Amino acid sequence: MSELKDRLFYKKKHVHDTVDEAEREASELYCRKYMYFLQKAKTERLAVAEAIRLAEGFGFHAFDRSAPLKAGDKLYRSVEGKMLLLAVVGTDSLEKGVNLCAAHIDSPRLDLKQVPLYEDHEIAYFKTHYYGGIRKYQWVTIPLELHGVVALTSGETVTVNIGADPGDPIFYVSDLLPHLAAKQSEQPLAKAIPAEKLNIIMGSLPLQGEGEGERVKLGVMKLLNEKYGITEEDFLSAEIEAVPAFPVREAGLDRSLIAGYGQDDRVCAFAELQAIYETRDPVRTAVCILADKEEIGSVGVTGMVSQAFETFMDDLCAKQGVKLAHCFENSLCVSADVTAAFDPTWPEVSELRNTSRLNYGVAIAKYTGRGGKSGSNDASAETMGLIRRIFSENSVAWQYAELGRVDEGGGGTVACYMGNRNIATVDAGTPVLAMHSPYELTAKYDCYMTYKAMKAVYACRTKA
Ligand code: MN
Ligand code: MN
Repeated sequence: MSELKDRLFYKKKHVHDTVDEAEREASELYCRKYMYFLQKAKTERLAVAEAIRLAEGFGFHAFDRSAPLKAGDKLYRSVEGKMLLLAVVGTDSLEKGVNLCAAHIDSPRLDLKQVPLYEDHEIAYFKTHYYGGIRKYQWVTIPLELHGVVALTSGETVTVNIGADPGDPIFYVSDLLPHLAAKQSEQPLAKAIPAEKLNIIMGSLPLQGEGEGERVKLGVMKLLNEKYGITEEDFLSAEIEAVPAFPVREAGLDRSLIAGYGQDDRVCAFAELQAIYETRDPVRTAVCILADKEEIGSVGVTGMVSQAFETFMDDLCAKQGVKLAHCFENSLCVSADVTAAFDPTWPEVSELRNTSRLNYGVAIAKYTGRGGKSGSNDASAETMGLIRRIFSENSVAWQYAELGRVDEGGGGTVACYMGNRNIATVDAGTPVLAMHSPYELTAKYDCYMTYKAMKAVYACRTKA
């Protein structure tokens, strides 16, 4: 390339060509930790539990609002066990703002309905209601595991976990055989598998000696009662999720990729976690948000719209006599969520100049949304400039990304809800192939660079 072109043109660089051996090893080491986390954190509740377990190992403790606050303190607060907020208190006053990274830990899946169990022709099933944007045809004939809780009227909560341990049975949604799928095959993809046919097979043996009818359902209910002490009515106060039972694996002959369920957005969640675990004595307070409910609009107590975040931040600010609004006004937030990686097999949905590519680093997005940027945060040029500077100064390999061609579709993140709070916010996250599928693909280098990006944000000394 000519010297002038080199100086004047924006170039994306393949991370493999820019890192030395030590950094390659650091990337491998980081990805091993990430893969372990991803395997354990298949639901938002499991993600919170694993994040707290790791956090306590790094010296974090549950935030006690009555205890004094001092620089260097490492705190966390769990919200209903499904949202997690962590902070490392800085030496600067909270008046000067904080450095926030916000990811989400819920992923598309099949939730059990509240009256799920039934029997049809001597097969017992669970009815499901899908959660988030799934392509329904991808969820049939794959192994599923069940996780969640059942809240009993006694106030006790029972944890359900079947299918994750070796030796456990897995669960299954059937599809038609091609021999008899002539009519179904003529349907558009979105209609070929109707939501009400996403029924999970739970068993097939009739319980003997209990009269006629619903004997298979009774057999399944008896097993559940023996294992968890629950009755059918208890499902009404349960949250049980069916998630893919695939193991997290390296992918590709060169092992450069990671295949696993729920990388949207646990890949960014873990990057934030590892970064804040390693943050010591920051100047500005570092805050890590792992939100729930992003996939259905950031609703509810554990979603990013919730006041739970304000309460946590206000509890911190109150300790220093700082007004929350002033803290927000001076804060910086990276909305850490995944973006669509360019797929060479489906190039028609991307616009190559403005798409992210695997192995080109963490992807910054000025805006997300659909149509005319609807539902996006649309970061200011100044915030974009700041994030470029932070990443460049910290050797973070980054690229620019817009999710797909204009009017091809689109998607949102929690960025707009942070913007609503008067917090300067920009989107940055890991490119993912086959996002929202039961088995998503990322590149190791991009996962590692996302972690480096979060670390750099937490270490940022000033928003100006
Ligand atoms: Mn996401
Ligand atoms: Mn998503």
